[in-house]
Amino acid sequence: MLPGRGRNGRAVRPVRLLGTRTAWTTVGDGEFFCPGCGGDRNYQRLTGRRRFTFLSVPVVPRGETGPVVECAACRHHFGTDVLDHPTTTRFSAMLRDAVHTVALAVLAAGGTCSRTSLETAAATVRAAGFDDCTEDQLDALVDALAADTGRVYDRPCGTGLAIELHEALDPLAPHLAPAGRESILLQGARIALADGPYTPAERDVLATVGAALTICSDDVTRLLAAARTPS
Ligand SMILES: [Zn+2]
Repeated sequence: MLPGRGRNGRAVRPVRLLGTRTAWTTVGDGEFFCPGCGGDRNYQRLTGRRRFTFLSVPVVPRGETGPVVECAACRHHFGTDVLDHPTTTRFSAMLRDAVHTVALAVLAAGGTCSRTSLETAAATVRAAGFDDCTEDQLDALVDALAADTGRVYDRPCGTGLAIELHEALDPLAPHLAPAGRESILLQGARIALADGPYTPAERDVLATVGAALTICSDDVTRLLAAARTPS
């Protein structure tokens, strides 16, 4: 008889005298991006109570464990830091809002919106996911923004506008690859260039966009120059 084998040669599971077992309790749920199976999934947030087991029977409590996040699809457990990552749905919404805000900020910096600027901006915003965005809608929003933030035309990227840009871009930046961050800046740059070279006000707004997207100022300068010569 081989060691670890029963009489008929089958593997024998060693009997564990002592062990630990965790009983999980659900303390919350929601939707998250599961890094295990790669998609938006439901999750349950669990805390566990660990117990010593004797011959597989729980005996002595060994305290709390967790909390962990359990994927409803693949059942894997993760640390709660996975919840910091936006779901795909949330991420697309953030990206769409970011492009919309950048477009408005650039238009507002340009002063009276020319038709070409509005057309470029509306096409950019539609491509980002707001399918029914029109030139007139953007024009009205820029007017409203001007009325709201006061003399935006004279003080481009005034505090109000800068706050709007940071609110839309700051939470997004850590989740974007460098190419994704640059792409948002370039889209803004092309809107600015639609009616001619950059004005100082437009440069100012685009610098704020770059900073909010954590692109260093040298790269912002390089990208703004590159946008002028579309490939
Ligand atoms: Zn999963």
